[in-house]
Amino acid sequence: MNGNLFATMRAAIADPARPFLHADGRKSLSYADMLAASARYANVLASLGVKPGDRVAVQTGKHVDSVWLYLGCLRAGAVYLPLNPAYTPAEVSYFVGDAEPALVVCEPGSLATLRAILGAAAGRIETLDAAGTGTLQQSVRDMPATFATVATSPDDLAAILYTSGTTGRSKGAMITHENLRSNAIALVESWRFSAGDVLLHALPIFHTHGLFVAINTVMLSGASMIYLPRFDIDAVMAALPHATTMMGVPTFYTRLLADGRFDRAAASHMRLFVSGSAPLSAETHRAFTARTSHAILERYGMTETNMITSNPYDGERRPGAVGFALPGITVRIADPETGTALPQGEVGVIELKGPNVFSGYWRMPEKTAQEFRADGFFVTGDLGYVDPDGYFTISGRAKDLIISGGFNVYPAEVENALDALPSIGESAVIGLPHADFGEAVTAVVTARAGRAVDEAAIRGELESVLAKFKIPKRILVKDALPRNAMGKIQKNALREEFAGLYAS
Ligand code: AMP
Repeated sequence: MNGNLFATMRAAIADPARPFLHADGRKSLSYADMLAASARYANVLASLGVKPGDRVAVQTGKHVDSVWLYLGCLRAGAVYLPLNPAYTPAEVSYFVGDAEPALVVCEPGSLATLRAILGAAAGRIETLDAAGTGTLQQSVRDMPATFATVATSPDDLAAILYTSGTTGRSKGAMITHENLRSNAIALVESWRFSAGDVLLHALPIFHTHGLFVAINTVMLSGASMIYLPRFDIDAVMAALPHATTMMGVPTFYTRLLADGRFDRAAASHMRLFVSGSAPLSAETHRAFTARTSHAILERYGMTETNMITSNPYDGERRPGAVGFALPGITVRIADPETGTALPQGEVGVIELKGPNVFSGYWRMPEKTAQEFRADGFFVTGDLGYVDPDGYFTISGRAKDLIISGGFNVYPAEVENALDALPSIGESAVIGLPHADFGEAVTAVVTARAGRAVDEAAIRGELESVLAKFKIPKRILVKDALPRNAMGKIQKNALREEFAGLYAS
């Protein structure tokens, strides 16, 4: 059997004439169109010298052609490496230096800057854009519409997704074909996806949620998707009557609830709303049910593991809980120090084992080893407990991570950028409660002796080094940062002190 995820996707197509993708202002594209387009992309990759196992780094907007490129990479046996379009050239330069891709694909507008900054490190650079005028898209037109999907082992890499490191250095999570295949099969089954489903896809596709959870689940069930470039409330409202399912981050749901047009009738064509990537508050869950009669199905996962737990399709979707382990996955709550399993009800670190767990961090064997127990369980760094009915609940994070609007921000990375500025003495970056973003990235800093901290100027300086979503919404100045007896900055004290900063 071909272990290539695309071979399983291909086998799931019962009728190639069925719709696959509905994009704004374009005619719907069928599975046959998908087969032809992904074959053209696989052919163009081969013609550019991309070999199985080579990395293809992609920093583009959410275009239809970006989906074909992802699938083309799978078919060619290449390793897809998506990058957030918000990343600055300085950030991209790190990823490219680390992953050494054979090909970089970017927007035409960033070609000159990337070429200058990446130099020889980039391998080849091609472009892709919404209008179809990119260099890669021009080459694709002359390519054959058939391609024999490369046979891979299930354990070969399908993708590398960078997750920021707690030390500020990003780690490339190596995801195999089998990781993705097993997880998509589990989700299709657990969430009852079928060929009749239409997924409202408003998530970004450089992240595990929009890329794998959404697209792979659609493809392994023969469903279709309404492919929106972003979460735009008007576009989402217009699409809802044509969709049956939606996957979103909690911010999508709070934004829908904030819109007076969103009511029972607006959601009446829908069968399922799924939430994940950040905590969905019990309050939002309940408000959503009161408004629409739909209970949002909350699931939990991470880049390294794909999806881990899910609330049940049948049975209670419990507000504030993330449900049960998905089929084939073993989840335990363990003592953070020893890894010993804890009894029901006790808070510990969430650990798991299963075919969904990644094969390690790219070229970082020591970091990989640190995150696994001797018995093979992966340590998520999330804290939680099991309630008396067996539901997993996430109660906090052992890792210093902020999730703002569904995007992960590692404080260490922002602190490093702040500390490099001449006016900053020291800094602590924390997440504070925010009605729209869930958590808002906030910096508390001291001024360097003899210098004044200018909030607007600092934000301006950070813009050239950090992607926008990582830039603190506020930069607060204190004379000194609170420290414990060991000299460690007490972020909890800062979180308490400024808890109400975004309350109004
Ligand atoms: P990412 O790798 O970007 O998908 O981020 C993974 C992290 O997001 C997890 O380790 C959790 O901290 C968090 N996360 C994902 N889903 C949930 C959820 N349903 N509730 C709370 N936190 C979540």
